[in-house]
Amino acid sequence: MNSADDFAVPDPEDQDVASFHDPITHVDGNAAAGALSEVFRIDIIAALGRCRHCGSVRAFAEAMVFVDAPGIVVRCRDCQGVLLRLVETPTRFWLDLSGLNYLEIDRDQ
Ligand SMILES: [Zn+2]
Repeated sequence: MNSADDFAVPDPEDQDVASFHDPITHVDGNAAAGALSEVFRIDIIAALGRCRHCGSVRAFAEAMVFVDAPGIVVRCRDCQGVLLRLVETPTRFWLDLSGLNYLEIDRDQ
């Protein structure tokens, strides 16, 4: 038997597509505030940051924070590029800001 049904594509609604788009759970930028407040003596949550990968400018609080990595990894909500990595040891902080073009910080806060 040879019919079009032999090559039928599964109905997209029958598949769990959500698991392909967001397999790793994350929280928002507030989750990194405690550790970062020891490095930055500013209100990082309200600061605007520009993503080096896609150019998006957003408040830090809107970023995606992954805390199950070695240290903290902060990713852009628009392109998922890495904005910031922070690793703590008992004696040092290791901070990588290479995914940010800049941080814009309100001096009145
Ligand atoms: Zn981005």
